[in-house]
Amino acid sequence: MQQAPAFHVKDGQLIGARQVPSPNFNQRPDNTEIQLIVIHNISLPPSQFGGGYIEQFFQNKLDWSVHPYFQTIQGMEVSAHLLILRTGEVIQFVNFNDRAWHAGRSSYLGKKECNNYSIGIELEGSDDQPFEQVQYDALVQVVACLQAHYPKTQYHLAGHSDIAPGRKTDPGPYFNWAAFREQLHHYKKASIPE
Ligand SMILES: [Zn+2]
Repeated sequence: MQQAPAFHVKDGQLIGARQVPSPNFNQRPDNTEIQLIVIHNISLPPSQFGGGYIEQFFQNKLDWSVHPYFQTIQGMEVSAHLLILRTGEVIQFVNFNDRAWHAGRSSYLGKKECNNYSIGIELEGSDDQPFEQVQYDALVQVVACLQAHYPKTQYHLAGHSDIAPGRKTDPGPYFNWAAFREQLHHYKKASIPE
């Protein structure tokens, strides 16, 4: 017996994810096909987990006075399509049909402005700590689902550090690309009907 997939995409929404709308998005340029998935890490304050600050930040509802670090990001308006918490819970902030503000100045295979044509996935994490296995499990399910729905993303998966080298370091040295790719491969193989 095959397990029912945990996620599916409908009208740009990831069904199975908690929906927390962010105002930080705009339209993708006309006739833009989604062709890249970008993996990030984020934690607020840095290297501390929980607290709900990332959700507040992406909603422009973060109280800047709570922590000195927050003052250094005060007024920034950013978002990602998805966030995977340490618990493995998946939150969607921006509809996939819209352009989330996660990549900044960036370039992939010579094509600039990755926000235009990518889906951004944040893992709650940092450059100095391993990610949780449940985060990899959720990421595998989500990426498999997105790759089935947006076929070009099957060939284009990158870290933020790959598309903004010298400027960004995430998802960082603790993100295990080899293990992730292998788990994704096995998951997709097991979920393709014979
Ligand atoms: Zn990033």
